[in-house]
Amino acid sequence: MKLKKSYTTSSPAETKTIARDFAALCGPGSIVCLHGDLGAGKTTFVKGMAAGLKLKDTVKSPSFTLINEYGKGAKKLYHMDLYRLASADLHDLGLEDYLGGEGICVIEWAERLSNVPGKVWHVTIKRVSRADRLLSFTKGKR
Ligand code: ADP
Ligand code: MG
Repeated sequence: MKLKKSYTTSSPAETKTIARDFAALCGPGSIVCLHGDLGAGKTTFVKGMAAGLKLKDTVKSPSFTLINEYGKGAKKLYHMDLYRLASADLHDLGLEDYLGGEGICVIEWAERLSNVPGKVWHVTIKRVSRADRLLSFTKGKR
C-alpha cells in the first residue's frame, strides 16, 4: 500500500481497513499518535491496526488503565489513551520503556503528551458527518 495523505471513510469497517493497511507500514518500535475528538474513531482505528498485525486480542478503550498491551514478543502493540490526563510527560508516566522497545505504540489523545519524539506518525481523524470520517497521515511534524 502506498499511503496517501488523507482518506475519507464512510463506515467503521472502512476505517479499520485503512488502519489495517497502515499497520503493515509500521515497523518495530513505530510510534503512532492519534488525534481527534471523542467518537472520532481513534479506538476503531486501533482495532484495525490490531487486525493488521494479526492480533487476536480484543481491543478496548484503555481510558481507565492508560495502557493496554496486545500480542507478545516482537508482535506487540501498546495502546495508550491519555484522555483522562490534562497533560502528560513521557518520563513522568514511565512511558519511555514502552516507546523505546520493539513493539508498536499507538497513543490516543497524544496531543496531551508534552514531549513526543520527533520520528512518529500522526494520524488525525475528523468526524465529517454521522458516518464519514477524514483520516490524515503525517510523519514527523504534525
Ligand atoms: P474515539 O476512540 O475517537 O473516541 P471510537 O473509535 O471509540 O472513537 O468511536 C467511534 C464511533 O464512531 C463508533 O461508535 C463508530 O461505530 C462510529 N463511526 C461511524 N462512522 C465511522 C467511521 N467512518 N470510522 C470510524 N468510526 C465510525
Ligand atoms: Mg478511544
